[in-house]
Amino acid sequence: MSARASSPAPNGSATILLADQVLTLDASETIHTPGAVTIQGTNIVAVGPPPTRPAGGVVDLRGCVLLPGLVNTHTHTPMWVFRGLTEDVPRGEWLTGRLLPLERRLGPDELRCGALAGCLELIENGVTTIADRYGHMDAVAAAVEASGLRAVVGHSLFDRSAESDLARSEELIKRFGTDPAHSRVWAGIAPHATDTCGRDLLRRVRSLADRTGARVFIHLAQSEEEVATVAARDGAGCANYLDSLGLLAPEVVVAHATYLTDAEADLVGARGTAVAHCPSSNAKLEGRVAPIARMRRAGAVVGLGTDAACCNNGMDLFEEMKIAGLLNKVAADDPAALPALDILRAATSEAARALGIDHLVGTLEPGKRADVIAVRARSAHLMPWHDPVANLVYAARGSDVVAVFVDGRPLLRDGRLVELDAERILADAAQAARVLADARG
Ligand SMILES: [Zn+2]
Repeated sequence: MSARASSPAPNGSATILLADQVLTLDASETIHTPGAVTIQGTNIVAVGPPPTRPAGGVVDLRGCVLLPGLVNTHTHTPMWVFRGLTEDVPRGEWLTGRLLPLERRLGPDELRCGALAGCLELIENGVTTIADRYGHMDAVAAAVEASGLRAVVGHSLFDRSAESDLARSEELIKRFGTDPAHSRVWAGIAPHATDTCGRDLLRRVRSLADRTGARVFIHLAQSEEEVATVAARDGAGCANYLDSLGLLAPEVVVAHATYLTDAEADLVGARGTAVAHCPSSNAKLEGRVAPIARMRRAGAVVGLGTDAACCNNGMDLFEEMKIAGLLNKVAADDPAALPALDILRAATSEAARALGIDHLVGTLEPGKRADVIAVRARSAHLMPWHDPVANLVYAARGSDVVAVFVDGRPLLRDGRLVELDAERILADAAQAARVLADARG
């Protein structure tokens, strides 16, 4: 990539990204070698071979491959501050035994600092869209918005604080709306999980979703404890419980779905539910692989998620793609299971479908938003470039990303953040994490 690359032009004139190759990930799997993506304002206006006489500002990304910005279907950006504090915890103790005591020590200011550092990490790794959910989402959402990422944000709801959580969810919806076509940051509704949210709260969530058009984001069957609690309380499996409340549906994104019976996995798929698959988090915290193959076969839309930085221990979706491939092959006892193209789509076009934004992002096509990333391809671990998809899934690293555009706006250029002050953000977040330093168990 040339250090002399010119700056993208302002709205009105076109900017042409020139690269060795463009993977569009459109329905025909079109690849242009070499290729160009032309941006005008927030949108892509042309994708194809490099124009012979470029009309507009040129960004020279030769040596790179362009692909759609990665879509991360499950994150908790503020939890960046907990990285390294929840290691090798016995099954069943991670959430209540280790995480909750840490969470109680932090307020909105620390969480906002952590969220901004988390967003920085995501941008550096080529992520352009996130589905982010946590407490104090009013403070966290401000950080996410300031980062330049595209994001759906949800305030976590629990039975124990249902009234105030619902009020905060409504505020978030009022502030950001629920339409991703109108706002780079928009609101979802984020009940925590099937064990921490009883019928009354989830009925109110369903009706708020119906009234506002917001998507619903919920953890599903993420631990044996959750499964046992729901069975004792409702006499049902976690997925059956959600289904009885109308919350297995295409506009509902369930995260993890680790401990499902075969019949429940089939039901999740039959309802066309969106699933956020977080394989490294599931492996590290539960020692399990979610039944993704079964849910996909039955009709689920599966996107990849990194989960939080303290779950796996980072937010590199390239690494997540490789781990998804490896673990699902092991789970299926079949090296041909979950082909590389399916994995790349689970981080781009299918992830966008899972979040209901596939009309906006997830592929490089004219009319879509200009969420584009450039991966430096001329390095020892990525050559030769025989198979672009396999190279991106199994050989590329987040640190190979040298340029990131969201809505045509450059967030990363020459491997450096364009607007965010990385030094200050990391110093502030490290300071915010200091209060946790004596909490290592
Ligand atoms: Zn989560």
